[in-house]
Amino acid sequence: MESNQVVLGSARPIEERIGQLVEVWIRDGRGRDHLVTGKAFYAVYCWHLRHRTDREIARAEFVAASYDAIGGSAGWGAMLRERAACESCGDRYRLENIGLCTGCMRYTCYTCGAHGSCLGEIV
Ligand SMILES: [Zn+2]
Ligand SMILES: [Zn+2]
Repeated sequence: MESNQVVLGSARPIEERIGQLVEVWIRDGRGRDHLVTGKAFYAVYCWHLRHRTDREIARAEFVAASYDAIGGSAGWGAMLRERAACESCGDRYRLENIGLCTGCMRYTCYTCGAHGSCLGEIV
């Protein structure tokens, strides 16, 4: 899905990437094709939970629509039980126990922590 590629590309701050997706989604009549899934959803949802404000209504709607599209709370619960490897040390964790660097979009465990060279935060 093209929206996933936008999120997983790391050339711009994640806030800008998500903002672009929300704009396109609204402009194209809120089509399901523009929602995010998989790792891209994980990144968007975790980031959104940390940064949500009352002003970002369209973004909240985009996230809610994507959440429904991956299967709502059951889909989210299943995603949290998936496993991913920290791309620094190689240790494997469930997604609920590992972070994702929004700068380079690589998983990183909480022991390894943030990448010194990345502008993104760990979500
Ligand atoms: Zn690690
Ligand atoms: Zn990074």
